[in-house]
Amino acid sequence: METDEKVGIAFVDLQSQRRLLGDRLTRRMQAVLEHGVFIMGPEVAELEERLADFVGVRHAVTCSSGTDALLMALMALRVGVGDAVFTTPFTFVATAEVIALLGATPVFVDVDPQTFNMDPDQLEKAVRALKTKDPTVYPLPMGVEHADVRPRGVIAVDLFGLTADYVALSRVARENDLFILEDAAQSFGAVDKSGKKACAVTEIAATSFFPAKPLGCYGDGGAVFTEDAHLAEIIRSLRVHGKGTDKYDNVRIGINGRLDTLQAAVVLAKMDIFPQELDRRQHVAERYTERLKDVVRTPYVPQGYRSAWAQYTIVSPRRAEIRKALQQKGIPSGVYYPKPLHLQEAFAFLGYKKGNFPVSENLSETVLSLPMHPYLSDEQVDRIADTLLSVFV
Ligand SMILES: *Cc1c(COP(=O)(O)O)cnc(C)c1O
Repeated sequence: METDEKVGIAFVDLQSQRRLLGDRLTRRMQAVLEHGVFIMGPEVAELEERLADFVGVRHAVTCSSGTDALLMALMALRVGVGDAVFTTPFTFVATAEVIALLGATPVFVDVDPQTFNMDPDQLEKAVRALKTKDPTVYPLPMGVEHADVRPRGVIAVDLFGLTADYVALSRVARENDLFILEDAAQSFGAVDKSGKKACAVTEIAATSFFPAKPLGCYGDGGAVFTEDAHLAEIIRSLRVHGKGTDKYDNVRIGINGRLDTLQAAVVLAKMDIFPQELDRRQHVAERYTERLKDVVRTPYVPQGYRSAWAQYTIVSPRRAEIRKALQQKGIPSGVYYPKPLHLQEAFAFLGYKKGNFPVSENLSETVLSLPMHPYLSDEQVDRIADTLLSVFV
């Protein structure tokens, strides 16, 4: 736990949550220990029904992590060598990693400076550049001018809990016959401007139950969501080594991608309090914004959206000073993400250069995430805000 003893402000506070859950959690876990079906036990099916119901889609398929959720979604969509998949460089590495892992080509698209999510106008440009093999239209990966790489799809990320602009992104996707996979690892519980929940706005979505995400388990976990029965069926097969009628009938190449029954039990217990936790996150965010909006750029939530507040992230050219002041008071803070993906060594093979995605590059130098969880008291938020404001007097 990232807890500081002196002031007791955690970046993410799982201990307060555990105390609140109390018996509910231990009963759920105890039930699994007693029935002993640790793999694909009854809690897994119960959770999938509950998740599908919460989100408002027909199929929820739980799995081993958010990364595997993304990976299996791409596998189900038959993404592979020769396919270009567009995504942003201002995200966690997993988003682009799964594209490359399947032999497809990640093509980066810069983000909107206000929302930090994929800029639909730039997506349009990037698709046009790829189709015409003209990197003067938009920065492209090295060598695609000479290679047979066709645009296949988009992984849009709901960064820090805010869903991307799926109305605008879907228009570009439709015109170019691209799928959209929603990376909702940070946005589970968010509401889009269409009124739909995150994971229900595109044909397929992936989320994560990593402990620090808005809805987390006590280990690794994730889920894929879709209305498409055929895709859901393929993912159910992929997560058990490409099973056919059973594990020993193998009809495709898959992975070991199941969610543990114990982790399903943990998520089930947490779902009981999840709606109230989302309300608390919203309250904390509003209080931060009220206190800080005159000195730093506070998060922008466009009309009609509701963020899941995975992170509360400010933008300031004085980040280093702010961090230092917070640190001196024992207040944790985080930088997500300090280096955009196109400048990471792992993606050097794409041949992108500094300057290709100026918005992401600038954000990586100016963003700062403050403690965010449902158990921050008003007094704690004020203490954090006062400390931050002290930099500007
Ligand atoms: C956390 C995260 C993932 C990966 O989820 P894991 O469960 O850690 O594998 C993918 N994309 C984004 C945007 C994330 O924040």
